[in-house]
Amino acid sequence: MSLVIISPWKNVTQYRKLILDRMPDLDVRVSPDVGPADKVEFALVWNQPPGSLKRFPRLKFICSMGAGVDHMLKDPELPEGVPMVRLVDRLLASQMVEYVMLAVLRYHRQYHEYREQQRRGVWKVLPPPNTEATRVGVMGVGNLGGLACRRLSALGFDVAGWSRRPKTIEGIKSYYGDAGLRVFLERTQILSCLLPLTPRTAGIINKGTLSSLPKGAYVINSARGGHVIEEDLLAALDSGHIAAATLDVFQAEPLPAEHPFWSHPKVVLTPHASSITIPDSVVPQIVENIERARAGRPLLNLVDPVEGY
Ligand code: NDP
Repeated sequence: MSLVIISPWKNVTQYRKLILDRMPDLDVRVSPDVGPADKVEFALVWNQPPGSLKRFPRLKFICSMGAGVDHMLKDPELPEGVPMVRLVDRLLASQMVEYVMLAVLRYHRQYHEYREQQRRGVWKVLPPPNTEATRVGVMGVGNLGGLACRRLSALGFDVAGWSRRPKTIEGIKSYYGDAGLRVFLERTQILSCLLPLTPRTAGIINKGTLSSLPKGAYVINSARGGHVIEEDLLAALDSGHIAAATLDVFQAEPLPAEHPFWSHPKVVLTPHASSITIPDSVVPQIVENIERARAGRPLLNLVDPVEGY
């Protein structure tokens, strides 16, 4: 029986080696060399070509090679009824939270204003930042967003999270559902988006939601480019309603050379680099799921295909 890795983008050699180190009896293949289709029991995928999984009749699970599953679910020919799992990883979460904290702290400690003053040779102390009075809002309170909430709260910020269902995390205000969104936004001075991309969250950072943020708010998006209506964000930055944005993900990636974000004075951008899967850290959970599937035990980190995350 075999596992196939289908990933036109990610370098998969390391994954193959690490899985084989732990399961030498498993036939680990890298697409397009998939071998006999009826021997394939497990698929490890990142952005698989549409229809590439339907030819395997004996799949026991499909595993995303990342925390997000939007790349996997957008395949209109995904085989029905095959369980899907994703990666939930400590190192992936802490990388992401470092990225968010860095952006929050840059804004909070007026880093960009001081850089600009340095450029102009200006020696001037700006008003002191009041951490306890600074309201940070995290959209998505899951593996990544939950840790972001806790670590930002530990730094002393006034933190709220917005999720689909209510949360109880010490020191964190919980807002949830469509009904809670507006109140959450109205109290958020620094917004971090850590939502999964689903039909319900696509385009959620738009003219309407941006206008619910207080004037001078900051936006950090390191979830998916599809969360942001880019023209609306540009308009809000240009009008001054949004003070600045830190963006790691975009509607089109790589970001086209002519895109206004590249040279926008209020935008800091990175090339989808906020949090990158480290194979050594995630291969044990892939192997664990193979063992569970073989033993007929429940899989770890199951995806809900209806909710899309
Ligand atoms: P989780 O599934 O653990 O958490 C998702 C959170 O979003 C949950 O709190 C969930 O609410 C909430 N949510 C989902 N749908 C809605 C909705 N319609 N309204 C309100 N809240 C909603 O995901 P992770 O934290 O592991 O990852 C989040 C995303 O981060 C990934 O899907 C991926 O796209 C992105 N990511 C980006 C990376 C990058 O390099 N830029 C790297 C890694 C991840 P509830 O708790 O109530 O279910």
